[in-house]
Amino acid sequence: MEELVSLCKRRGFIFQSSDIYGGLQGMYDYGPLGVELKNNLKAAWWRAMVYERDDVEGLDAAILTNPLTLRYSGHEDTFTDPLVDCRDCKARHRADHLEDDVCPNCGSRNLTDPRPFNLMFRTAVGPVDDGSSFAYLRPETAQAIFTNFKNVIDSTARKLPFGIAQIGKAFRNEITPRNFIFRVREFEQMELEFFVKPGEDEAWHQKWVEDRLDWWVDQGVERNALQLYNVPADELAHYSKATFDVMYKFPHGLEELEGIANRTDFDLGSHTKAQAEFGLHAKVMENRDSNTKLAIRDVEANEWVVPYVIEPSAGVDRGVLAVLNEAYRVEELEDGKTRTVLSFKPHLAPIKAAVLPLKKNHEGIVGKAKGIKRELQALGLGRVLYEDTGNIGKGYRRHDEVGTPICITVDFQTIEDDDTVTVRDRDTMEQKRIAVAELPDYFREVIR
Ligand code: ATP
Repeated sequence: MEELVSLCKRRGFIFQSSDIYGGLQGMYDYGPLGVELKNNLKAAWWRAMVYERDDVEGLDAAILTNPLTLRYSGHEDTFTDPLVDCRDCKARHRADHLEDDVCPNCGSRNLTDPRPFNLMFRTAVGPVDDGSSFAYLRPETAQAIFTNFKNVIDSTARKLPFGIAQIGKAFRNEITPRNFIFRVREFEQMELEFFVKPGEDEAWHQKWVEDRLDWWVDQGVERNALQLYNVPADELAHYSKATFDVMYKFPHGLEELEGIANRTDFDLGSHTKAQAEFGLHAKVMENRDSNTKLAIRDVEANEWVVPYVIEPSAGVDRGVLAVLNEAYRVEELEDGKTRTVLSFKPHLAPIKAAVLPLKKNHEGIVGKAKGIKRELQALGLGRVLYEDTGNIGKGYRRHDEVGTPICITVDFQTIEDDDTVTVRDRDTMEQKRIAVAELPDYFREVIR
């Protein structure tokens, strides 16, 4: 983990947030390469979830959430972790993370009984903070999918089964944030709520578990670094009938990367009950013959159905940590030296190709290299970098360390002779000459 943390800082993937003021616990900032990696991971998820299917719609909802949403979803009452205080050193811990009920800070056994600690952050809304007008920072992206359920079906005419996907920030006031970006207080989630007919939920649950495992393998995670954990009944979240956690061998141990829950009709049902209680929806719904339900019409059966929902919920930050950890390796070279490589799948690499001019002051070479950069960039496959630091060998090493799949070197032969460039492969270190005219096809092939 230390090597990864240090590489992430040195090369501009991830920084401690508010670093120059001593940091803010449980917060991290993504640097120039980190933002690319994270965006690429999110884009891969969106492609798989929305574009490559025809039964999922997207959503991007507000982070600040009406407290009623989180009251009726059960989060105000139950979204808690067990908190204990050490009476000797005053440190606070999550009871279920303690080993043998011993304070990890000072070794004391003089601990308080656990008490529930609600993880939701709240903030004042509007100019006067008199405590009456507040909102929660959402602790999961899911709730806005449920509260928008009617909006989405009314605007898309969806039938079961179908899903709504969302990627965005979530906030949890974790008692003890730790293990780099694994457990933080501000993070991102990629969540799909997949609505199905009651009775078909268990089969869909199985299917999603398999799909999600395959997706992580497509992101470069070894299948044998992943395990499924069938969450026992006494550990299930308040909304869940069954949950499979996708566990990954993080550098600090086997822990949850993604949770795939069968949330039943708990959320739509709870919000429906709330609507009825408040009479909030009654007016809107009175012409719709639906008993104010967040329900969908089953035309064949001629009835309203409150769907069950299967929820694959993955953490973006935990995903970034997993793909970094999988990609990281230090290789012994023949000359006794070592090289550090991030062997990302090309679609995740922050920089897809680096174009290096052999001489940085040579007009012909520089012009040619910049032209190649522009042409490859215009293909829209991700960031292509023109870089004229001069030393090609060092450039290759630097790009190995940040995971750039190919480096393209423009030299005298390119401009004076046969219009070819040297293309160097990150993983094999092989170099070959390719005609400039063939570069776009070659590049497409590598990245896709
Ligand atoms: P844990 O048991 O590790 O606290 P959880 O079961 O509470 O996680 P879920 O509520 O299932 O997590 O959230 C779905 C996903 O969101 C998790 O699988 C994880 O990838 C991510 N996630 C949850 N909490 C955090 C956090 N504090 N920091 C980073 N990612 C998180």
